[in-house]
Amino acid sequence: MTDCLFCKIVAKEIQAEIVYENDGALAFRDINPQAPTHVLVIPKEHHADAAALARADQGLADEVLKAAHAVAVQEGVADEGYRVVFNTGPGAGQTVFHVHAHVLGGRNLTWPPG
Ligand code: IMP
Repeated sequence: MTDCLFCKIVAKEIQAEIVYENDGALAFRDINPQAPTHVLVIPKEHHADAAALARADQGLADEVLKAAHAVAVQEGVADEGYRVVFNTGPGAGQTVFHVHAHVLGGRNLTWPPG
């Protein structure tokens, strides 16, 4: 998609601190981190949100989830516990409409989230 920020990161037209990559997914640090570890994991292919991705390609959805957990291990937060969040739709706070998993860790994460 030509006008999508995260597609531009996939295409390397916009810089990002990439921390993990596999065939289908890319992970990079959030520009406005909300925790010591805050990484966004996206499918390289454009899908607007988690629901659209799940409908379109369950294999790719699996790859994104696996990448999220690989990032948590790589970042050293897997043992202490971490959070994987898909804000889905504007009402849930989604602002970038290329599906992304937030991987958050490295601090005490309270529940429920605001
Ligand atoms: P959302 O609100 O769930 O859609 O999350 C979008 C996230 O993308 C926010 O946490 C932003 O800080 C992050 N973000 C926006 N632009 C960039 C960028 O260029 N690089 C990395 N993260 C970004």
